[in-house]
Amino acid sequence: MPCYRCGARQTDPIRGASPWKRGVRREAQVLVCPDCQRVHDLDLDTCASCGSIALICRLGEIECRSCGEVRLARADEPLVTAGSPGSARMPGLAAEVEAALDRVLGRS
Ligand SMILES: [Zn+2]
Ligand SMILES: [Zn+2]
Repeated sequence: MPCYRCGARQTDPIRGASPWKRGVRREAQVLVCPDCQRVHDLDLDTCASCGSIALICRLGEIECRSCGEVRLARADEPLVTAGSPGSARMPGLAAEVEAALDRVLGRS
């Protein structure tokens, strides 16, 4: 996985821990290279309890490695497309958006 910010590829350190940092950005697991870690506007998700950016994203959950807080990821994954089971969570809204799109695009 490359650095989310500059796209640099991770090189495995010969020994010791990797200087690359794992984080969560918009509820997706990302890697940050050592150069980009010096930037202060990393735009990473932070823990709601302690403000740490040391988060891990797992299946539907975000866990804080600093304080152990686990929260559910938001349900609105961008990967959910119309017709998939996930879109059934908000059928009214999806239909509303679809209808609006139809009007704007002159479909239907
Ligand atoms: Zn980078
Ligand atoms: Zn925390």
